[in-house]
Amino acid sequence: MKISVPFLDLKAQYGELRDELDQAYRRVMDSGWYILSDEVRAFEQEFAEYLGVKHCVGVGNGLEALQLIFMAYGIGAGDEVIVPANTYIASWLSVSYVGATPIPVEPNPLTHNVDPSRISPAITKRTKAIMPVHLYGQPTEMVEIWKLAEQHGLRIVEDSAQAHGVKYMGRLAGNLGSAAAFSFYPTKNLGAFGDAGAVTTNDDELADKIRVLRNYGSRKKYFNEVRGHNSRLDPLQAAFLRVKLTHLDEWNARRAKLASYYLERLKGLPGLGLPEIAPQAEHGWHIFAITHANRDGLKSYLDERGVDTLIHYPIPPHLSDAYADLGYQTGDFPLTEKLAKSVLSLPIGPHVRQEQADHVIECVKGFCLGG
Ligand SMILES: *Cc1c(COP(=O)(O)O)cnc(C)c1O
Repeated sequence: MKISVPFLDLKAQYGELRDELDQAYRRVMDSGWYILSDEVRAFEQEFAEYLGVKHCVGVGNGLEALQLIFMAYGIGAGDEVIVPANTYIASWLSVSYVGATPIPVEPNPLTHNVDPSRISPAITKRTKAIMPVHLYGQPTEMVEIWKLAEQHGLRIVEDSAQAHGVKYMGRLAGNLGSAAAFSFYPTKNLGAFGDAGAVTTNDDELADKIRVLRNYGSRKKYFNEVRGHNSRLDPLQAAFLRVKLTHLDEWNARRAKLASYYLERLKGLPGLGLPEIAPQAEHGWHIFAITHANRDGLKSYLDERGVDTLIHYPIPPHLSDAYADLGYQTGDFPLTEKLAKSVLSLPIGPHVRQEQADHVIECVKGFCLGG
């Protein structure tokens, strides 16, 4: 029998929670409130409680969550924000959209997250913030970043879009800096059934500003204090997220179990790099990224055998056409460029079945052992 393994099975997520989600849908439809509303407030409160932060403000998506944080801090033209060179382009775009300049820093090639020891030389008089991105669901090593932020008076803006429910030194991502942005894009560990995002923070003033900024700059209808945005969490998505939040830890545990299984069975294969976890960090296994010098060969080999894979990410932001104007060249960030050429993400999620996991492992082994 031919086994096929999708990269992530979103329909299975709906299937498992169908009754609860359908009930949430009916509750919102029957409420007659389709913008903001009690449903959004309830999710904000529940997610803030889950993270142990004072405030959660629901917004339209993860990119806008980041953007609104920078707007609220008054970061803009002439300012610099330290970003990982190795990240999804959204992290950079949020900085660019407010008119500031992203300053890339190379990763630790083992964790793929920003290498904290390389941040200090990138700090200038213009630096306003450091943006750790908890890539693949693994929290960034924060100790050095906390020190630098303190020393230089910088904000820490976490891009937590891939890190729902994971801890660093016992504290949840989203509660490790001055403010954090979450995405609830459907494929994320806590995913909605459409676009959604949130800002989390312990800063009362920031939370208040973001509540105003996400709603046209008004606290009271038609009284506009500032030139705001329209970026509000949809009540239907908030209702779905309330359901999914109650399953987050259990679904993350299923991902972790699969990740351990992969790690154990794929250990020691020639040419294969496996994910590494930093001290004091928990991995949320949003993505299970391996590396291989012949990544494209491995990808086709798996594809021919029914195993879906993705590349996170094939083109680093500094070499993307979108950032051609910054004038970066190939070779400027060699560690990032090497990862872009060698990473491959295996299927992982709460609904991968045993025979599918075994098939993935057999196929990776087959390729590495020259079968
Ligand atoms: C998904 C993601 C975003 C953007 O989230 P959207 O909700 O799609 O806008 C930002 N940063 C990272 C690292 C992401 O993975």
